[in-house]
Amino acid sequence: MSRADLAIVGGDVVTTHVGRATVLVRDGRIAALTAPEAPVDAARVIDAPGMLVIPGVIDIHFHCRDPSYPHRGDFATETRAAAAGGVTTVFEMPISKPGTSTLERWQRRRDIAAAKAHVNIGLYAAPGLLDGPDLRRLVDAGAIGFKLFMTKAVPGREDEFDGLVTDSLAHVYEAMELMQELGLRCVFHAEEQSLIDLHQARAARMPGPDHLRHDASRPAVVEATAVAALVQMSLATGCKVHIAHVSSAATADVVRHAKRIGAPVTAETCPHYLWCTEDDLERAGPFGVINPPIRSAADRDALWAALADGTLDVIATDHAPFSRPEKEAAIGDVLSAPPGHPGLETLLPLLMTAAEEGRLSVERVVELVCERPARMFDLYPFKGVLAPGSDADITIYDRRERRVVRCGEGESRAADCNLLFDGAEVVGRVHATIVNGGVAYLDGAIVGEPGLGRIVRPGASTTEPVATA
Ligand SMILES: [Zn+2]
Repeated sequence: MSRADLAIVGGDVVTTHVGRATVLVRDGRIAALTAPEAPVDAARVIDAPGMLVIPGVIDIHFHCRDPSYPHRGDFATETRAAAAGGVTTVFEMPISKPGTSTLERWQRRRDIAAAKAHVNIGLYAAPGLLDGPDLRRLVDAGAIGFKLFMTKAVPGREDEFDGLVTDSLAHVYEAMELMQELGLRCVFHAEEQSLIDLHQARAARMPGPDHLRHDASRPAVVEATAVAALVQMSLATGCKVHIAHVSSAATADVVRHAKRIGAPVTAETCPHYLWCTEDDLERAGPFGVINPPIRSAADRDALWAALADGTLDVIATDHAPFSRPEKEAAIGDVLSAPPGHPGLETLLPLLMTAAEEGRLSVERVVELVCERPARMFDLYPFKGVLAPGSDADITIYDRRERRVVRCGEGESRAADCNLLFDGAEVVGRVHATIVNGGVAYLDGAIVGEPGLGRIVRPGASTTEPVATA
């Protein structure tokens, strides 16, 4: 066998099981997994004694505002955060200025992303303008999937949501008919607008502590009702539906039932719903405002049960950076807070801690953040698995020491907004992140150049040149 470009030696490699092996990389792909005692001939060696070697994490729910709002980070800063978090692929949501709902806007955004990418980036498209021929061109250009909100735009940000929002279930239904023909999965932000309006007005008048107003303004029924409608419409249209950020026991029950009756529905939750409750919001205030809201301990526990029984398919971050002053402006008035929290750099440490505590196996972690995302968006087996021929997107995780997460540490421009996980004790840290065979992050430092990451498209590798439409 000819010389490898890179060898990862001494690690415990996670495939269907965990076993000691050497990973050899050549021309951006995994060339072979060899026995630990076999001789190694490689231009570069990363020693990973006792560390876990897993497929690069795929985060299917990521936000970046680039080229607008540079103070909230751009594709360079936020994909640096991805690399530092062991995330080798992010799927970018189409909220931009203006919303990514036409081919021209999508291509502009893709080109901005490609030039700055430290990790691979897939870009969703928004179908809300109901322009069938343009949606076909978006699919042909390589959109990773669709994203649609069942709500209206955040007031004052209408241009960012152009083509992403809907004004009725009929609007959602027509979009689903179009998407079913095009074949790509659609990620839904599922909250029912008229129920939000009702509860927001009540929450504004509610006596008692301010931090409880956010959950009161969007209670679980808002989410579960929207998801129940989506389930029925997915059955009627055949559109593949993915429910973003499931936050409540009620919604987990709806998804469980949807799977039982054969609806083409998948679902994700996020670390903040699995680790945080309303108790954390007292401390975090507007920094803990995310839609849908963080809820009770009973909801949190129901989500862990839904992970265990397979109701939930994926864990994603919903990484959504805002600046510290933007969040601070809403102290004492959480209903005015911009919704979002950074999550890329805490995702894997939290999950590895759960594995260490016996709440999930390491194999299940890999399934939730690597394999299932790759299969759902037609990237498997290029991604989501460590096997000969797969793209060399690899994360090396060092579990040997416990540490405390601190607000302000990390690569994200929003690192100083990480109040939810400030003080959390976690097991270990990312040691290295390999993207398309190149080292993006090693031992605490970003070492890859922008452009190491490439644009991801369904059914394709990122380690060979892709024609751009
Ligand atoms: Zn989101």
